[in-house]
Amino acid sequence: MVFNSSIRYVDDSLAIDNIKLDTIARAVGTPAYIYSLKRVGENYAGLRAAFAPLQARIHYSVKANSSLAILQTLAGAGAGFDCVSAGEIDRCLRAGACANDIVFAGVGKTRAEIAFAVAKGIGWFNVENLAELRYINECAVDAGADAVKVALRLNPQVTANTHPFMATGHGAAKFGLTAAVIRDILARRNEWPQLEFAGVHIHIGSQLGDTAATLSALDAALNLIADQPGIRTVNLGGGLPVAYHFDDAAPSPEGLVNELAPRLKGYEVLLEPGRSLVADAGLLVAELLYVKRQAGQVFYIIDASMAELIRPALYDAHHEVAPLRKTKGETVTAQVVGPVCESADVLARDRQLPALGAGDLVALMTAGAYGMSMASNYNARPRPAEVVVSEAGEGWRISRRRETVGDLYRMESK
Ligand SMILES: *Cc1c(COP(=O)(O)O)cnc(C)c1O
Repeated sequence: MVFNSSIRYVDDSLAIDNIKLDTIARAVGTPAYIYSLKRVGENYAGLRAAFAPLQARIHYSVKANSSLAILQTLAGAGAGFDCVSAGEIDRCLRAGACANDIVFAGVGKTRAEIAFAVAKGIGWFNVENLAELRYINECAVDAGADAVKVALRLNPQVTANTHPFMATGHGAAKFGLTAAVIRDILARRNEWPQLEFAGVHIHIGSQLGDTAATLSALDAALNLIADQPGIRTVNLGGGLPVAYHFDDAAPSPEGLVNELAPRLKGYEVLLEPGRSLVADAGLLVAELLYVKRQAGQVFYIIDASMAELIRPALYDAHHEVAPLRKTKGETVTAQVVGPVCESADVLARDRQLPALGAGDLVALMTAGAYGMSMASNYNARPRPAEVVVSEAGEGWRISRRRETVGDLYRMESK
């Protein structure tokens, strides 16, 4: 069974590139996130090729996975970055990104974050509040910067076909500005002389099920800037979906590109993909602690939980579960659950899995996006180690060591 070009079974052993996951898990312990840098690079190259007709600039959305190793890989491949905090900007700069290739988005940027971003000379601000313009302008005056590039984020009032928690473009969402406010800002642009109003931004959600809402959002954005000769950049945001089920095909963006291309002639196009670059490059390896049969159910209690991977609890998300060692024979319907004291701490429901026992290892698949970046210390659980398999696919290293219980006291006074 092949999951993708980097993750597959070799001799009944789940492998990532040329390394058996078992080898890594025995060495670093569990739970552990393991990423294929090769797959990240291939996803980036594939997306660039698919969007070549638009000559789109790709800004990786850092919140999907802010591991320095991944940021370095993407910076090395020429990607720009989409950040939503000063912390993410700092990480990108540390990973070797060029400040000019960073866009800063977010509905609640603090003044300190704006000052930091202006001082670093980042490429773009995606603006979502009227008052934010004054802050950016003041910071630009202080820093002696001018022509700070701004893209106004339109709330296009379209409802994306995705989980409600991942939809950001409908009228009731906190994100973006209405078309009326954007028109008002553009009419008053002289009030912010340090700013260059050069772009429009849309991002209507994540894991988008079809392209219809994206196209209607784009049409609304293009309609809005039709009489604005100074606005030549359209930032389409992220949202490209990935396949979370074994029997799904990874959706190809080519249909979307064909629809976008005629509309975007003459515009510079930016993209902010997160999930689609990293999700299928990573997995979370866990050990089965207990098998508990109760009330007609079989619970596989593993040492990973909603603290390490919150997506099932937060979005009812589906992650396939793959045993590290493939066995034939009987399967059971199992509830794969974690140790955390919450009924929502179910990582996978009603799965047909082989009969496993304590000490067996399993992988939660397609966990490279919104996995470790959303992990918490809930239940005083140290966050897991992160391991990267090199771009050549031969070697691996711990890119972030496992936290210790001692680490959890570091910021606390008695
Ligand atoms: C989260 C986010 C993205 C990335 O979304 P994906 O679905 O991971 O591609 C892009 N742009 C903005 C503004 C975001 O908030």
